[in-house]
Amino acid sequence: MTRVAGKVAIVTGAANGIGKATAILLAKEGAKVVVADLQEEAGQNTVAEIKAAGGEALFVKLNVTQEADWQNAIAVAEKTFGKLDVAVNNAGIAYNGTVESTSLEDWQRVQSINLNSVFLGTKYAVEAMKKVGAGSIINLSSIEGLVGDPTLAAYNASKGGVRLFTKSAALHCAKSGYKIRVNSVHPGYIWTPMVQGLTKDAAEARQKLVDLHPLGHLGEPNDIAYGILFLASDESKFMTGSELVIDGGYTA
Ligand code: NAD
Repeated sequence: MTRVAGKVAIVTGAANGIGKATAILLAKEGAKVVVADLQEEAGQNTVAEIKAAGGEALFVKLNVTQEADWQNAIAVAEKTFGKLDVAVNNAGIAYNGTVESTSLEDWQRVQSINLNSVFLGTKYAVEAMKKVGAGSIINLSSIEGLVGDPTLAAYNASKGGVRLFTKSAALHCAKSGYKIRVNSVHPGYIWTPMVQGLTKDAAEARQKLVDLHPLGHLGEPNDIAYGILFLASDESKFMTGSELVIDGGYTA
């Protein structure tokens, strides 16, 4: 129960899915958690679950595409909990479209929410973690940041961008002597509201996704949260610029 004891973490997109599971797990393992999301009511539910289990958390409304929101969220973390040790850049959206069917407007919206967000979150987390003299930043990419899919042009680009941006930031921090680690996480399909939305037609669509995973089932939010916990903790102190793939064998 103490793998991240004493650490202060911010988790974006923590109102649902992977972010929610991560916020709850980090708090269970001793971190004070800033639950950041656009969805206030659902985010407050995450906070309530953490507090009911004896943990410490607060909600901050954050649109990950807005620089001023980031400055505010980090300031709230520092003012309330005194510092920032861990940042999980998790918020993101799914988008189906080929190179031909995707409009420029949709392309830019996906890059803004999935990639610009990670740039801003990393930039402001580094600034805060430099004051601490250490830190761990964890960026949610995807299997779609490792392999191509003809129907996911904008999503592929955003998640591939997260993967290499993470390496650039990791090298910059390491070579600057900051002791701030930056790693990416690459989930296969996880049964969250995002994927439930993609498989509205229920059983058949879900089975198609299941068949892509050699282990024979989709992942659960906690399968990813445990990987993020490892990267957040000092157990992973020799890892930076790494890609943690948790995908049921999808990319094997
Ligand atoms: P989800 O849709 O269940 O939850 C995403 C959360 O992000 C929501 O609470 C939403 O309100 C929040 N959010 C969306 N836009 C936001 C914004 N502009 N500002 C702040 N918050 C915002 O998604 P999930 O399945 O838990 O996915 C989490 C991350 O994992 C995403 O980056 C996603 O791309 C990635 N991922 C998911 C899967 C999967 O199969 N579920 C697979 C690979 C990668």
